Amino acid sequence: MRRYDSFYANGAFVRSEGTSAMPVVDPSTGRTIGEVVPCTQENVDQAVRSACAGSEAWSQSTLEERSEALTRLHAELLKRTDEAVSLLAREMGCPVWLGQLMQVPMALKGLQFARDGIPQVTWIEQIGNGRVERVPAGVVAAITPWNFPLHQIVAKVAPAIAAGCSIVLKPSEVSPGAAQVFMEAVQCSGLPPGVVNMVWGGPDVGDRLVRHPDVRHVSFTGSTAVGRQIMAAAAEDLKPVTLELGGKSAAVLLGDADLETALTAVVRLSMANSGQACVSQSRLIAPRGLLEQIEGRLGAALESWPLGDPLDASTRLGPVASRSQHERVLAMVARAREQGARLVAEAGKVPEKFSQGYYVPPVVFSGVRPDMEIAREEVFGPVLSVMAYDSEDEAVALTNATRYGLSGAVWSADPARAAAFARRMKTGQVVINGAAQNLATPFGGWGWSGFGRENGRFGIEDLLQYRSLHGA
Ligand code: NAD
Repeated sequence: MRRYDSFYANGAFVRSEGTSAMPVVDPSTGRTIGEVVPCTQENVDQAVRSACAGSEAWSQSTLEERSEALTRLHAELLKRTDEAVSLLAREMGCPVWLGQLMQVPMALKGLQFARDGIPQVTWIEQIGNGRVERVPAGVVAAITPWNFPLHQIVAKVAPAIAAGCSIVLKPSEVSPGAAQVFMEAVQCSGLPPGVVNMVWGGPDVGDRLVRHPDVRHVSFTGSTAVGRQIMAAAAEDLKPVTLELGGKSAAVLLGDADLETALTAVVRLSMANSGQACVSQSRLIAPRGLLEQIEGRLGAALESWPLGDPLDASTRLGPVASRSQHERVLAMVARAREQGARLVAEAGKVPEKFSQGYYVPPVVFSGVRPDMEIAREEVFGPVLSVMAYDSEDEAVALTNATRYGLSGAVWSADPARAAAFARRMKTGQVVINGAAQNLATPFGGWGWSGFGRENGRFGIEDLLQYRSLHGA
């Protein structure tokens, strides 16, 4: 049993004093493998006091000091790659290939891009007799989810360090190992005490942090429903918020797309991490004339996503992360069938020895209409919904028939045609013909996917205030 029983303040791990420990469950077996001891109000206050002192000191740091701190933190995290990969597999069911290829590398890149973003910020600008300075926002409260836990922590902590802010992190209680590994890297990186702090707990501890009077900015990644609650709580004290919320992203196949390449990628981007990605391409907008061929190819592509033990290198798909996810995804699949969605493919047998685990066989539905729940709501599971179109205008309308706007993809043999279509999509980012996601560009949503931006210089700018000095 792993015990996560110490929060982090003033550069040291300190015993958490909450009484009702939260279990950490291995989702491949359903067995409890650890526990998180939550923080009390006094523990949260202690972490915020530490952050106040940290903010005082770190706001005076030079840009070189911030850059060097990020370089050292990168080196410390890199050393802990194997440990992080194995904890991600055990605590949230992320297969080792994905931990090695995406979860940990994204976090490492996030540190590098924040460091590279420092000289890209216009820290001082002279306009006539006015000197415009960009100054750190102060103490940041960061609340993160469980699905890409290390990357999401870095996406908040790295820009805070670069901006000269201090931060109190409240990571997800579902996959705490990533946060523990990260804080051990922080401690060994030689960052001054108080710059990065962490508290353990669930929604109540998150809420206390958001409402703490000494917190000056709230940065949240998680569900749209909780994002609304956090924005309302922060509004009472007029705290600025960054909200990275859910998505219902569409991949659009234009009629001339290379189907083999596109569909292999669409299956990967809808199924990887068991569909538990905010940018998951959970809807496929496809030309009606090619539907039969597309459905056949999707079924075949799904065969290369076997379910298995997350710790086994040959496993492509593990379980979903928790019992509540399992129940939610299976219920949504059942309702999709009731509402008339047509099951085109279902792959993957749950391995016998994991019959108590939270496995969901990946599925593809076709004949999905915009009014169905499966087309409108985020599933956060290995479920792809195919929606057919007759004209490009109809494809645009289907793509934008959602209140979310986080990501999307377009496929066409003609890159200019794909880019023209991408510009009609109401979403924060669009991947054209399977291009790599560039983590130096702004990441964030429109509409119900939230607002504010992360990554590189954009994440740093999110945590800065303007100060104008007239006559300076
Ligand atoms: P969640 O919203 O349930 O919880 C996220 C975090 O908020 C957890 O740490 C939780 O303890 C905390 N929390 C819950 N209620 C709170 C409250 N009232 N006040 C303060 N803190 C509270 O989300 P989850 O289930 O952990 O993650 C899945 C969701 O996250 C999905 O909707 C997914 O799309 C979204 N997500 C978004 C992005 C993005 O960048 N846009 C990235 C990853 C995940």
